[in-house]
Amino acid sequence: MKRYQRLIVVVGLLGVALGFVAIGISGPAAPPPLRVVVIDAGHGGEDPGALGADGSEEKDVTLAVAKLVRLASLGDPAIQIVLTRDSDVFVELAERAKIANWKKAALFVSLHVNACSDPSVCGVETYIDSKQPEDGASAQLAAVLQDRVARVMGSHDRGVRSAALFITRAQMPAVLVEMGFITNYQERGALKAFARQKEIADAVYEGIRSYLLDEH
Ligand SMILES: [Zn+2]
Repeated sequence: MKRYQRLIVVVGLLGVALGFVAIGISGPAAPPPLRVVVIDAGHGGEDPGALGADGSEEKDVTLAVAKLVRLASLGDPAIQIVLTRDSDVFVELAERAKIANWKKAALFVSLHVNACSDPSVCGVETYIDSKQPEDGASAQLAAVLQDRVARVMGSHDRGVRSAALFITRAQMPAVLVEMGFITNYQERGALKAFARQKEIADAVYEGIRSYLLDEH
């Protein structure tokens, strides 16, 4: 090796070393750990879920919103969205929670649409399993999502509720969001509209993001 070549190598190595020192000093933020969040599109296949007077089916709304949540997350280094189904297929309730457990998901969010024999009933409500404490992680996640989805729907905020649900099998904070009533004329229209589905999905994604990045 000629002398000037050796010099170039030395200067080069020095540069690399200084680079490491500079990185150490400026302390570039470590990338947030990638966390899996399972979004569960309620019903599917032979199980249509709740039905609207115009023939619309809950399973279609839940699938559309779930896919839009995944779309909203693309490119996010901190969150990977996994769907329990991404087509019109039937998935057992137990299987849905099992997917979340198997994936070691940080959160499990099941999306549903409500129904009532009284067509005037409307609003958004979010459930946690009755075995979960009122101030636990599931309840906190539920509060975040309930607030955001109710705001987007602009309808009656029916609050966070508790019931014995299949999400009890999930080994992580788990909630079930009832995004609106398919039996209510106005809400059915909103739930079927792509623009509103996108807004709901963005609200769910942003809620998940703010919950996770607040280091719960
Ligand atoms: Zn449902």
